[in-house]
Parts: sequence; C-alpha cells; structure tokens
Amino acid sequence: MSEFRQDPVTGEWTLIAPERGGRPRDYAFEREDLGDAQGCPLCAGNERMTPPTRSEGRLPGSDLWVTRVVENKFPALSAPDDVLGAEPLDAPAPYRATTGFGGHEVIVETPRHGEGLADYSDEHARLVVDTFAERLGYWRRDGRVMHTLLFRNWGRDAGASLAHAHTQLAALPRVPDAVISEMGNFSTYWAEHSRCVLCEAIETDDRDGRTVLERGGVLVQSPWAAPTPYALRLAPRRCAETFEDAPHSELDGLAQALVSIARVLDEHLDSPPLNIAFHVAPYRVSEIAILPYHWHAAIVPRLSERAAFEMGSGAHINVVDPDAAAASLRSVADGLESGL
Ligand SMILES: [Zn+2]
Ligand SMILES: [Zn+2]
Repeated sequence: MSEFRQDPVTGEWTLIAPERGGRPRDYAFEREDLGDAQGCPLCAGNERMTPPTRSEGRLPGSDLWVTRVVENKFPALSAPDDVLGAEPLDAPAPYRATTGFGGHEVIVETPRHGEGLADYSDEHARLVVDTFAERLGYWRRDGRVMHTLLFRNWGRDAGASLAHAHTQLAALPRVPDAVISEMGNFSTYWAEHSRCVLCEAIETDDRDGRTVLERGGVLVQSPWAAPTPYALRLAPRRCAETFEDAPHSELDGLAQALVSIARVLDEHLDSPPLNIAFHVAPYRVSEIAILPYHWHAAIVPRLSERAAFEMGSGAHINVVDPDAAAASLRSVADGLESGL
C-alpha cells in the first residue's frame, strides 16, 4: 500500500510507492565518459585558464595545491567591491527585480582529473571540508550576503558541466525560499514541542534502523519520508547552525561520511550521477529571529526524472521504500568497512 509522508524539515510531501519500482539494477545507466584532462581548466597545470585563485588548500609539507577556489568563469552572481548589496531594478508591475549581487565560486576538490569523492583519502577529504568551512567564513566576514549555499553536481545527468570534481558556492543577498521554508518548520516544531525537529528526526531514523553509516558523530540516513529513490540526509548529532566552526572530530566525521557514502553508492548503484546540497543557517539568523536551525545536506542520486505529477503537485513519488534503501545501503557500507 502506498502512502503520503511528509518530511518535517523540508515540509515536502512524498508518495512512497514501492510496488511501482524495482531493484537497484533497474536504475543502472550508462557510465559517462569523464571527459579528457587535456584542456580541462580545473586540472593542475591549467591554472591560467581560470580566474585568479582566491584560496588554496595544501597537505602538510607539500607546495602543490589539493583544493583551489576560483570565481566561476561564467558567474551567475557577482559582488564588486564598491557595491553594498543587491539594488532594485525597474520592472513591469507586478514583477520585481534586483541586481544579481552575490558570489559564485568553484571549489576545485582535487588537482587530478577523473578522481571523485570516493577516491579521496581521509586527509584529502578533510582538506575539501576545511575549504568549504573557510569559504562559509569568508562570506560571513564579507557581511554583504545573507546566505551561502554549497552544492555539488557529479555527472552530466546531475547537471555538472565540467567532469573535473568540484563543488560550487553561491553567496546570496537573500535567504533562498527552501531555507526560509525549513526555518519556518524548525520554528513551528520548536513552538509546539520545545525540540529541534531535525534532532528528533535523526533519533527516530536511527532508532528505526535507517542509519546507513556514522562517522565522528555525522550520520547518513535514509529518512522515513525520503522524496526520491535512495535520497539520503547527512547531518551531525550535534545540533548546530553551521559546520563552519565545528569541532575537529565533526569535520573529520563529515569528510569521512562523504567519502564513505560515495563509495557505498558507487558500489550499490553503479556510480550514479549525484547531487549534494548543504543547508546551513543564514548568516544573520538573529536578525530574522527564527531559531533553531540544524545544518544538514541532501545527498541525492539522480535515478529518476522529475515528472508532471511532481511538477503539478509539488509532492514526490518514491518507488523505493526508505527502510529497504537503508538496509541495502547499510549492508554495502558494512561490507566495504570490513574489506569484503
Ligand atoms: Zn581536469
Ligand atoms: Zn537539532
């Protein structure tokens, strides 16, 4: 029997309908050609092909970069030094418009072409996570943006335009609707239950066997109301607005959880195209006066197309039971960990 389930954090409704779906092999797809390293602007040695370096991450004792941050060559947003923020533009009523003020950066995760999240050592992954945290801090200090979104597209079917592993950052002059909506859900739940709704969802999913893996207090779970097949939620047990200033153990945990889940998905779903989107609290959350917020990331293998039902209703249909997804992914995770 199918059922509608609501995620209490996103507020999204999903129709869980496993009888319509199949086994993981039904989601197999053609492996993509990863593109050629020659002429790749993100490869080591081709630095002149990108805008100037804004920040670099190196392993101790090495003078070669491992991570590198540049402005997007075709930025969707820009933040000139002499501009204070988004400015209103003329628009025909009832429309409204502002200038596209903000930051749009590319975080190059590795100097090597063809390497992905699943290939990083713990040290390398930690450098990637530290670079994320450093950029969140940079835009906080800039003071002109309200929110910073980190998102990662892997594989052309997931929207990546460059094959070389990278994450993008958008520093935005206003808080995106998805985050505003989540903040409303956190705040409503808090008003009614005096608890953080995500803390409670994490505990419930953990208690009921939907944790796929946990590293250093960071969990990857198949949430009870997962919107799409094998959609996962990564979040720390510690209730915190952002990971920018997280303890070392949590940053290590985040790095290892990302690498481990990438390995599990590669193994179980044959290296699927993957989207990862981080949600941290807006910078000036106290000004908006809605508390609390608990940072998290959505990890979504792109296995099915969003169809007209989803577009028309705003709800999803998920043909894989989230409990079954958790069980199968966890057995792969346990197998990889024990070296099977
Ligand atoms: Zn490359
Ligand atoms: Zn919480």
